[in-house]
Amino acid sequence: MRVVIIGAGLSGLFAAKTLDKLGHNTIMIEKGRSAGGRMATRRIGEGRADHGAQFFTVRSEELQKMTEDWLEKHWIKKWFGDDFPRYIGVEGMNPFIKKLSSSLSIELNERAVNISSGPIGVTVHTEKGEHYEGDAVILTAPVPQSLELLQKSPQLLNEENERLLKSISFKSCFTGLLSMKTPIQIGRSGIQSKDLPDGVDKIVANDQKGISAAPILSVYMSGDWSDSHFHLNDELVLEKLISTLPSSVTGQIDSSQLKRWRYSEANDVFRYPYMRLGPQPVYLAGDSFLTENDSSGRTRIESAILSGIRAGEAVASDLSNNI
Ligand SMILES: Cc1cc2nc3c(=O)[nH]c(=O)nc-3n(C[C@H](O)[C@H](O)[C@H](O)COP(=O)(O)OP(=O)(O)OC[C@H]3O[C@@H](n4cnc5c(N)ncnc54)[C@H](O)[C@@H]3O)c2cc1C
Repeated sequence: MRVVIIGAGLSGLFAAKTLDKLGHNTIMIEKGRSAGGRMATRRIGEGRADHGAQFFTVRSEELQKMTEDWLEKHWIKKWFGDDFPRYIGVEGMNPFIKKLSSSLSIELNERAVNISSGPIGVTVHTEKGEHYEGDAVILTAPVPQSLELLQKSPQLLNEENERLLKSISFKSCFTGLLSMKTPIQIGRSGIQSKDLPDGVDKIVANDQKGISAAPILSVYMSGDWSDSHFHLNDELVLEKLISTLPSSVTGQIDSSQLKRWRYSEANDVFRYPYMRLGPQPVYLAGDSFLTENDSSGRTRIESAILSGIRAGEAVASDLSNNI
């Protein structure tokens, strides 16, 4: 059986890996130039900067086992924290994704624009006019983007499901990437998330973190600050972001760039790890779908991975039972 997966972020990758293991074919459709979604790393000159997720933590036994395997393969390393370790990609978060996804089929630069369903499966249509047919489809974009896609796909969305999906909203986030003339010490390990100027959520020194040969800071603005500046153009946002920082930092900036995240962290979550839309083989997964026993209640790397796995297992089970 073949399953089409929309989105090659963590949820999509883990859904694909799970289905692959259970003997199904998968094809992932990703609108971006590379896999990873919010696991993003940018090369800047001689350096590198993570500008989406910075690290992951582990609460479930399932992720703990995978983490031990990745540590052994030197794909990830512990950054800091003894009781509650923070793990990072050895060369950044996106290079870690490249390792995870190396054996999977991904069509990059392909944006899904609608989905049709027929008596024997589903077809995903893309902006470039391509069609991808499958026995089932899993949507893994942030919920508001999946909702938008479903609203353009007649027959698939009933009123109740539309109401449920509309209840999930996301905070935005601006990340400033500042190349520095000289290294700047940020906290003990290269991250500071307390005692920062208004509007700044955290600052990370990528060189101190151990992923960059050049001194580059990633400055994360808070959800409130980002939402209230989202209508402004990048140049103006970057200027305002830099103006929030102390002169000890601004005086050392060599060059700067901005990353705009429309969807960073969800304000609300579902308390189930995936959703099936009625009788059609159309499923939703992603970081807003939490496993029932998730004690954190937050969207994060772990919730995205576990949602992808649970959705992959459910699709495989439904396909083999013909439901
Ligand atoms: C700034 C920031 C900081 C964060 N920091 C942390 C952190 O430190 N620790 C942590 O645990 N989590 C953090 N997170 C959250 C974490 O990154 C996410 O929870 C996780 O990566 C989500 O994975 P996902 O697969 O659910 O979604 P995504 O990574 O968003 O993947 C969805 C994919 O779908 C693609 N897509 C969307 N629409 C379409 C379409 N129509 N057609 C084709 N493809 C489409 C997107 O391009 C994307 O690649 C952070 C997120 C951000 C933005």
